[in-house]
Amino acid sequence: MAEKIYSIKIKEAFNERCGCPICALRNLLEKDEIERILGAAMMEPDTRKETNRKGFCKTHLEKLFAGGNKLPMALMLATHMEELEGKLFKGDGKKAAGAYNDARRSCYLCGRMNLFMDRVLDNICYLYAAEEDFRKLLAEQPYFCKTHTARLLEMGEKTLPKKERLAFAAAVAEVNKAYMEQLKEDLDWFCKKFDYRYAKEDWKNSKDAIERAVKYLS
Ligand SMILES: [Zn+2]
Ligand SMILES: [Zn+2]
Repeated sequence: MAEKIYSIKIKEAFNERCGCPICALRNLLEKDEIERILGAAMMEPDTRKETNRKGFCKTHLEKLFAGGNKLPMALMLATHMEELEGKLFKGDGKKAAGAYNDARRSCYLCGRMNLFMDRVLDNICYLYAAEEDFRKLLAEQPYFCKTHTARLLEMGEKTLPKKERLAFAAAVAEVNKAYMEQLKEDLDWFCKKFDYRYAKEDWKNSKDAIERAVKYLS
């Protein structure tokens, strides 16, 4: 059965109509999760067992640190390092290198976010198939970033019936195509403005065209 628990949050993010709605939702879920980890969850034995075992990637360590809750973070890192010591200093160089690589790739928060995002994407596909209004809302999005377009299409292929799969892929493509057309037009006009023949013309919507293109492409 499709996950429906994210429906309200998804609709809120899609109603913002500002950038990739799935990025916005992801950032929101990540913020909540960071607050949870540095708050009540720090004392939960199950969560601690997992954070001790998995640790965090560079990005999430920095985000946790920026959360400003230093005591819970110090406690969590100390017990994680205790567990890490038991893995890193065993066996020959090859085994130790493997253990360092495992530690480098392992992140409790990345794992949680992947799980959440799978549910969110599944939920979006469900809403698309079930609600006419949501199909309209999806078509009104500014764009979907490359990562979320790929993951959204993959989820559509996996969960939607064949007929809806095609319509879904076409609807997502339509959103991105329109955005890219507009961006290209704005970039084109931006370039023309460097030509003396267009110097007196208005900049139209092109002044931040490069910034928008960089944001969209990166
Ligand atoms: Zn995105
Ligand atoms: Zn991570």
